[in-house]
Amino acid sequence: MSKVQFHGEAVPLEMHKVRIVQKLNLPPIERRLEVMTAAGNNTFLLPNAEVFLDMLTDSGVNAMSDRQQAAMMVADDAYAGSATYTRLADKLTEIFGTDYFLPAHQGRACEHILAKTFVTPGTVVPMNYHFTTTKAHITLQGGTVEELVTDAGLAVTSDLPFKGDMDLGKLRAVIEKHGADKIAFVRVESGTNLIGGQPVSLQNMIDVRALCAEYGVLLVLDASLLADNLHFIKTREGAFKDLSIREITRKMADLYDVIYFSARKLGCARGGGICIRDRALYERMRGLVPLYEGFLTYGGMSVREMEAMTVGLDETMDEDMIDQGPQFIGYMVEELDKRGIPVITPAGGLGCHLDALRFVDHVPQAQYPAGALASALYIASGIRGMERGTLSEQREPDGTEIFSNMELVRLALPRRVFTLSQVKYAVDRISWLHENRRLIGGLIFFEEPEVLRFFYGRLKPVSDWQQKLVEKFRADFGDSL
Ligand SMILES: *Cc1c(COP(=O)(O)O)cnc(C)c1O
Repeated sequence: MSKVQFHGEAVPLEMHKVRIVQKLNLPPIERRLEVMTAAGNNTFLLPNAEVFLDMLTDSGVNAMSDRQQAAMMVADDAYAGSATYTRLADKLTEIFGTDYFLPAHQGRACEHILAKTFVTPGTVVPMNYHFTTTKAHITLQGGTVEELVTDAGLAVTSDLPFKGDMDLGKLRAVIEKHGADKIAFVRVESGTNLIGGQPVSLQNMIDVRALCAEYGVLLVLDASLLADNLHFIKTREGAFKDLSIREITRKMADLYDVIYFSARKLGCARGGGICIRDRALYERMRGLVPLYEGFLTYGGMSVREMEAMTVGLDETMDEDMIDQGPQFIGYMVEELDKRGIPVITPAGGLGCHLDALRFVDHVPQAQYPAGALASALYIASGIRGMERGTLSEQREPDGTEIFSNMELVRLALPRRVFTLSQVKYAVDRISWLHENRRLIGGLIFFEEPEVLRFFYGRLKPVSDWQQKLVEKFRADFGDSL
């Protein structure tokens, strides 16, 4: 919890004050049911004006600091030779110790450039765990992804501090099986997005580096969720607890040939970039930036966002800043766990993940338990989460469903956005929903796009369960919102 000792109940403590606010709207539950029905029970299709707490994602929605906002006013719009670009590139050299930088408009654009440069048909990219856009770019180039997170990392409940660690035995076996020349690169995602924001230990990264050096394969870090991972190394990995955040970052960065990131997460702005150690590697990738992103000094980003990113990256080296996300998430996970509500443990970064397979164990996987729970949660609370389960998968070409091995509702906590009372409201409503979980039923598609169905697809309830949920809410809460 907080570095500040409490006399009574320990709670996460905000190390910032709020100076700009946005008014929120909490529509009554009958209206929420209407809105959810119109959105086809898909939280991506909800209009934000009808959402009370938006916990869909932490991408591009973290709160900026006063220093970031101020920096945006002094951005240099020059097409070439922009001083903004120089400030950003210098900051990355200072933090990561890498000499070369290529800007790109967001994380997936970096993945596009990496995949186009290094992945050819028949090559393999071993990684701890995939991210949706990463895997898509690799497979689009004819490569395959091998996921090598340790088996224990996939357990929903656990007390393992670093569930994102790569299994070294599996990594060696994959390199031996395909041959080092078929390995496009090895990718470490820190922390892992799709398995609950779980971190990777610095020791595991050191061991992965040694193995890559032995076989002469390229090592790449996806640093999009680095801020939370740094917090967890500092607080959970005893061997490195005396190092500062800057020292941990540098020790980590020194292990990698290439570091890329989404600045929609890292640095609390909107953009992305690739940091490269070696000139020859930089030159191999450079040509693609003006082609797909924009000139080398902005890469498709607004210079104002680049200035905000430069300051945001600097602020990420401050423990008080990066502790905020994990502390609030830790609090929320602990409060839910205490009430017997199934969540991924231990708490990771990014957000809190409800385990729908246990929460609504009576809803068959073919009726999308995580999607149904996300829909029920919005109706019960006005909170928007994201389905991360079977709905987010794609059917086999013959139409068979691929059942996801986890059915999660992710409740992201964008940094410095929500207050503790809002988190307590979320816990209260989730806990009411858990008490009434038998009322929740399944969903079926009535509009199912072939690709990215989770973004656009529309579903309907299999019965009148949503109406029953509204009636129970009214019976329990009276005329409350
Ligand atoms: C979000 C994310 C990406 C993609 O970044 P975008 O800016 O959304 O394109 C890549 N990797 C990880 C781990 C992410 O969390």
